[in-house]
Amino acid sequence: MAFSIILILVVLVFLYIKKRDNGSPKKENFNKRNKIKEEPITKIKNIFEKYNPVNLGESDLEKAIKNYNHSIYYIYKGKLESSTEYALLIGTSDEWVNLITLTRAQKPTYETYGFSVIQNRWSYGSKVLGAKEFRQFIKKNISEIKMLMTELTPIRIEKEKEKRLKIAEEEKEQKTYEEERKKEEAELKKAQKYFSKKINKNFKTVYFEYNQNKTKLESAIKEANNHYYDIDIINQTCSCPEYISENYKYDMNDVRRLCTHLNRIITQHKILKKSKDKLDQFILENLKYGILGVYKRKIGNNLDFAIILYNWSKNISVVTPKTNKDGFIMVEWKIEDNNWNPNRGGKKINEQIRVFIEKQFDI
Ligand SMILES: [Zn+2]
Repeated sequence: MAFSIILILVVLVFLYIKKRDNGSPKKENFNKRNKIKEEPITKIKNIFEKYNPVNLGESDLEKAIKNYNHSIYYIYKGKLESSTEYALLIGTSDEWVNLITLTRAQKPTYETYGFSVIQNRWSYGSKVLGAKEFRQFIKKNISEIKMLMTELTPIRIEKEKEKRLKIAEEEKEQKTYEEERKKEEAELKKAQKYFSKKINKNFKTVYFEYNQNKTKLESAIKEANNHYYDIDIINQTCSCPEYISENYKYDMNDVRRLCTHLNRIITQHKILKKSKDKLDQFILENLKYGILGVYKRKIGNNLDFAIILYNWSKNISVVTPKTNKDGFIMVEWKIEDNNWNPNRGGKKINEQIRVFIEKQFDI
């Protein structure tokens, strides 16, 4: 019995040793194969150099490298079999190696292409001249490329962090901008409400006519025909939202009928006929879109003035005679500041008119 047990044990030990001896070479072979694929660090050839723009000369390739607008940390400059000079660049990406080489065009220029070392492919749409040669070269030097990419990991992480911070900042700015815009819109609505109370039966309009200059009219029509919106200069219509919601309500030749587009084309092509009325003429010369109404008044024999309200402005525009010469100037009452805007010649408003307006409109 004891002998049998010893015999069984001896057989088991023998089998175990045999198995171990059989296994070892296989494992070794497997490791060998793998090691060839991985290439140990000692086998990495140092083909890439640390990038320093100071080392660049003035060749077309070097100029293209200087114009490359991403960070470069390592660079390799080489030549294809066709003797085309090119550069491989390693930046902060752990996937893409960038290549600057000549295009396929008849007059080739240097262009940047990306090669993914993870997916082993060119970036979409790339038709790289010498693609196969580049691919083989990258494959041959993949260990060094991957090692350099790994080395750049801390910089990459830092850059990603910066990028996230920048995005957060931009989002914050966008939010502030939107808030400010909302605030401005609210202020404008408030001002418009204020205006609407003032726009009584005294607020009317100014009418315009086209002049007889056919060349100018034709060029205006031509511009209108080429416009994104459907603009008709003769019938004074436009397909823009502004016109459709507001301006259409007014008769032909009424300045209130002019949307941004009609106004711009009409004023730029100078197709308006001069008005005999000097005040009307000044208004037509300084025509702007979005007119809500025009209040015209004469004080005494010669003090003509006009108030113009616009749907886009928080200010009241006043056309008033110049204090010491002929002609008119435009001044503004700033509702926000409760004051005549000194930047727009507010100081020069005719005193009688100022008193009249402030009394009449309770401002
Ligand atoms: Zn329009």
